[in-house]
Amino acid sequence: MHCIFCDLIAGAAEVSVCYEDATAIAFMDIQPVNNGHVLVATRDHYASLADVPEEVAMHLFGVALKLAPVVRKITGAQGLNIVVNSGAAAGQDVLHYHVHVIPRYRGDGFDIQLPFPGSAVPDRTVLDATAARIIAATRDPVGPRA
Ligand code: AMP
Ligand code: ZN
Repeated sequence: MHCIFCDLIAGAAEVSVCYEDATAIAFMDIQPVNNGHVLVATRDHYASLADVPEEVAMHLFGVALKLAPVVRKITGAQGLNIVVNSGAAAGQDVLHYHVHVIPRYRGDGFDIQLPFPGSAVPDRTVLDATAARIIAATRDPVGPRA
């Protein structure tokens, strides 16, 4: 399947690279929320977080953490969102794993609204039961990843 990020990593499409190493490449989002919006992507093609080896995912998050204060400094942003959309249902449009580093300003109009206004506060028993299921599944040696 055609992948625009693989194209630009291979030099076959225009890109403004701001960081690269053997595993990761970071470049300017073509349609930034605000100027300075960076995408940190794997050099190799992995569709989503569920497909990325753990050490690669950790490395990418490390790169995002390294770039975050730099982006904030050069843009004068008042805050940042570090976001991963994993899977089309979660709003992932480009199915090549990447981490967004998004500079934010008060009143800029972008919002990842949490708590979600459409959701209710569940009973504590529901929260406890779900927490217990997560604990059990985390202990399972063949348990699922993201
Ligand atoms: P997501 O919805 O998390 O997959 O985000 C995809 C992001 O990729 C969006 O913010 C797009 O603006 C950005 N994007 C799409 N095509 C390109 C491109 N050719 N170069 C840089 N950023 C891109
Ligand atoms: Zn790709």
